[in-house]
Formats: sequence, C-alpha cells, structure tokens
Amino acid sequence: SSIGHRLRGGTFAAPGEIRRTDVVIVGGGVAGLGAGYRLARAGYDDFLLLDLEATPGGNAASGRNEVSAFPWGAHYVPLLTQEARAVRALFEDFAIITGYGPTGAPLYDEYALCADPSERLYRYGRWQDGLVPAIGLTDEEEAETKRFFATMRDFRRRVGTDGRRAFAIPLDLSSQDADLMALDAIAMTAWMEREGYRSPGLAWYVDYCCRDDYGTRSQDVSAWAGIHYFASRNGRAADADEQGLVTWPEGNGYLTHRLAEVLGPRVRSRTLAFAVETDDAGAAVDVWDAAEDKTFRVEAKAVVLATPHFVTARLMKHAALAAGFSYAPWAVANITLDSLPGGTGAGLSWDNVVFDSPLLGYVVATRSPRCARRTRC
Ligand SMILES: Cc1cc2nc3c(=O)[nH]c(=O)nc-3n(C[C@H](O)[C@H](O)[C@H](O)COP(=O)(O)OP(=O)(O)OC[C@H]3O[C@@H](n4cnc5c(N)ncnc54)[C@H](O)[C@@H]3O)c2cc1C
Repeated sequence: SSIGHRLRGGTFAAPGEIRRTDVVIVGGGVAGLGAGYRLARAGYDDFLLLDLEATPGGNAASGRNEVSAFPWGAHYVPLLTQEARAVRALFEDFAIITGYGPTGAPLYDEYALCADPSERLYRYGRWQDGLVPAIGLTDEEEAETKRFFATMRDFRRRVGTDGRRAFAIPLDLSSQDADLMALDAIAMTAWMEREGYRSPGLAWYVDYCCRDDYGTRSQDVSAWAGIHYFASRNGRAADADEQGLVTWPEGNGYLTHRLAEVLGPRVRSRTLAFAVETDDAGAAVDVWDAAEDKTFRVEAKAVVLATPHFVTARLMKHAALAAGFSYAPWAVANITLDSLPGGTGAGLSWDNVVFDSPLLGYVVATRSPRCARRTRC
C-alpha cells in the first residue's frame, strides 16, 4: 500500500509525543494477531498492535463481494499436526475444534471442513481427482509415484535421535539429526535424481508443491524443505480423512477477523512503524499515523516484530537477520463467473490446477460448506 511505500522512500518528522504501553506488536498479520491473542487470553491488557493497512490480516487478508467472501492470500489450514499445540488451543477457543473422537483425534466443525471433492488436476484434456498425476502413467511411473509417497510416509513417521519428529510444524520442533540437516544442503531436484525419480508427472507435482508453498521452483528449494512439505503433516480428524483441510469462504481471513475482533481497540490500523530501537530497558517504536499524518513514539517494555524480514531490516538497522532471505511476489485475482466452470472428467473441486501451467490454479470460495449452506452463492 502507499502507506507501506513511505517506509522505502519517506522521511518522517521527529515523533512529537510519547505513548507508553507494556508490549507493542508491530504487524497485524496472523502472527502479530496471534501474539496479541495469546496476551489477551492470558488476561494481559496493556498492549498495542500496529498495522499499516486499513484492515489487519496481512497475507491472510480477505475480501467480500455480492456473491461471497473470498481470500486474498492464505486460503486453508491443513489438519493440525500433533505438535501444533498453540493453534489447537486457538481452534478450541473458536470452536473450530468442537471435541475429540474416541481415538483422541479432533472433531472439527463440519462447516470448516472443505467440502468434497477438494482437489482436481487437468491433464490430457480432462480433469482427474486429486493433484497427483494419475492418468496416462506407464507402469514405471505408477510404481515411482507409489515409492515416493511410501518414502514420504517413512519420513513422516521417523523420529530423530534427539527424540523429535524428523519434520515437524512448528519448524523449530523438527529433529536436528545430521543426515536430515544434510538434506538442506542439496536441492530437491538433486535429491529426486539421486533417489532415481524420473517420472515427469511426479517431477511436475513436486515442483508444483514447491511453488505453492515456497513461491519458488524445486531446483531452488532444498531437499529438506521440499520433503518437509510432504513429511510434516500428520494431522488427523475424527470426522475427516487425513487429506482433510480446514477452510472458509474468506480463507484464513476468517481467523484474522476473529482474532482482530478479540483484540478490539488494541489494534491500531493505518499506523506505520518506521524505526525500532531496543535496549535492556525495553523498546522504542517510532510510528506514523497515516490517518492524522502525525508521528509519535511508543515506549514499551517489549516489542514483538511480526513484520516480513525485508521490513524488519528497515526498522532495525542493526538486527541480525537471516542472510539470503528473499521473497517471491504473488499475483492473486478474485473472479466472479456467471456459471460454474465445468470440463470433462472429475467435477468442480475446491482447488483446481492445470498440469504444466505456470499458474497455481484456482480455489472456489463458494465450495466451502459455510458458504454453500448458510448463504445463497
Ligand atoms: C497467495 C498466498 C497464498 C497463501 N496460502 C496459504 C494457505 O493456504 N495456508 C497457509 O497457512 N498459508 C498460506 N500462505 C502463507 C500465509 O499467508 C503467511 O504465512 C502468513 O499469512 C504470514 O503471516 P505473518 O503475520 O507472518 O505476516 P504477514 O501476513 O506478512 O503480516 C505482516 C503484517 O505486518 C504489517 N506491516 C508490515 N510492515 C509494517 C510496518 N512497518 N508497520 C506496521 N505494520 C506493518 C502488514 O500490513 C501485515 O499485516 C499464503 C500466502 C500467499 C501470499
């Protein structure tokens, strides 16, 4: 936004006023809102969250038109991994998880589970179920696909010598075993080649997953990251199979709206942080209030920076940030059609992808049960 661009080129007047709070959170994406929610839930009231946009949400922002709500970025949450305790607590609070089945698997709100069919792929002039290429394969290709997923299943079950799962979400809980870490030093494509995977369909699928999750190609994603995509997800649900996913018409905007609702006036929109300094006593954050075109300083005991790395680098000139970190730009469109898209083969799904296309496909916001049942879409 133009407010954000001020950070790149703008000069700001020296802050004219000092405001005090215990904790200041910079950034109202799902991370910043989640941090604020944790504070509020713990009964902590003296904090402020600053976001430069008119509405918080960041990359999980959403929109709404006369047909339905729709996501602008993040559009689903996979079934929660067993390690994802913080998100599980949030989902319980928001009644997205409504209870637990006899085996301990969570029961999800049925309105939040993606309606079937969830995914289809267009190849050879027709749609097939699921995104893993399955039609027109030679016997070798079919065997290779099976071998690949069996290997990923083994990785998913593997526990490192440090007692941690090989690939976990949250990332920090993943095993640090040397042979696993070594996967971070080679590209996903090099690993595929080393392991004897030659099928073009499988190579396309793995590349698609890397583009979808990391915004870059499989030759530029490490084998550790590439495998993490497949091997970290171990979520279960009492009322869905393990491929199930959690979504709403507005995608993850459903979560950011609800989080922002809880935080209420502690969220200040259209407020840009332009400098952050910390010392043993706490933090000072200089901000520009775009609505009133004035600057002020927030002094706090602690600051939570929930901003992208490239912004953090501008806010804290001396911060030790991960070297070589870069971002991929995304172009997203929301399109309203007069009639539902069809095609030969498998019927319209929530996620629809075309083989070999440079695009990542489209999700149909109105395929969410909440939309389909509660409103006329
Ligand atoms: C197209 C797309 C699709 C995606 N799909 C999924 C998905 O389906 N599921 C999923 O889990 N993830 C998905 N992701 C990833 C997910 O959106 C992000 O990981 C997540 O939203 C990041 O949240 P965040 O709070 O860390 O950062 P951000 O969302 O980037 O939030 C940063 C916030 O900081 C604010 N800000 C920045 N600078 C300043 C400043 N100087 N002062 C004040 N405020 C500032 C911004 O306005 C923003 O609100 C997708 C991402 C994209 C782009």
